[in-house]
Amino acid sequence: MAEKRWIPETLFDELGFRMTYAAERVLYETRTGHQHLVLFEHKRFGKVLMLDGATQVTTRDEFIYHEMMTHVPIFAHGRAREVLVVGGGDCGIAEEVLKHAGVARLTQVEIDDSVVEFAKEHFPEFTGPVLADKRFDLVIDDGMNYVATTDRRFDVIIVDSTDPQGPGKVLFTQDFYAACKRCMGPGGVMVTQNGVPFLQPDELIASLRHFRKLFADSACYIAAIPTYVGGHMTMGWAADDARLRDVPVATLTERYAAAGHFATRYWTPEVHKAAFALPRFIAEHVAQAQC
Ligand code: SAM
Repeated sequence: MAEKRWIPETLFDELGFRMTYAAERVLYETRTGHQHLVLFEHKRFGKVLMLDGATQVTTRDEFIYHEMMTHVPIFAHGRAREVLVVGGGDCGIAEEVLKHAGVARLTQVEIDDSVVEFAKEHFPEFTGPVLADKRFDLVIDDGMNYVATTDRRFDVIIVDSTDPQGPGKVLFTQDFYAACKRCMGPGGVMVTQNGVPFLQPDELIASLRHFRKLFADSACYIAAIPTYVGGHMTMGWAADDARLRDVPVATLTERYAAAGHFATRYWTPEVHKAAFALPRFIAEHVAQAQC
């Protein structure tokens, strides 16, 4: 029997920390025009996609991140019609957004078309319903360029980016967040993939400092994602209406019922509310960003 290949996540090499997967089978590996891409099968996590040595999505735990990045801002907003996803190549976020019948159009701006092409073959559970949905509009472009030039306005912006390295680096800059604010409609909200604060505190603090200069209300919320190793994952939150972050559970429950009570495996109105209650060490990072 062939020796299993152990595939390391190299994202935290500088910290002297590595999570490594025993691949049952490597399904696909290539260098795209923008990044190194490998897809393999794993006994516990199912299919695992890594870009530039960082875990992006696995078929077994994807629901946690995708539901929390999507249903929290959309149910908090309450009447989101125009949604923008920056990044999101695997289409896992798009699949959750389109569960909201009230969303009139979803625009996804992805820099690397080969990630979407690849997802068509390897993640049909995401791309199948998404590409069949007339509300879906895919734009292949650098997210920075798109938000800096579009004349469209969005109720909800979801930044499902890679980490602040390679093509994803620009998506953590003040210029990018300022351009996102420019194309946000009144009463809009933006959420961002913001790393694991126990291992990446500077990433969270830097983004929150940028948000604070641009938006009336900035914060983060949390979820635990097994393959985003290192404890809590943070999702950045930026809006001008602070009430959006404080929608009562009863109202979230009503909105969920009005949205047809579609199936979720992580998000609930109670989990939504609780996700903004931060452990002290993360709350201290948020406070640090206020200084
Ligand atoms: N959930 C994952 C995570 O948290 O690490 C991210 C998943 S998704 C695959 C990330 C996507 O962001 C990739 O498809 C990548 O090509 C895209 N991306 C990276 N930099 C980008 C940029 N500047 N503009 C648009 N998309 C970008």
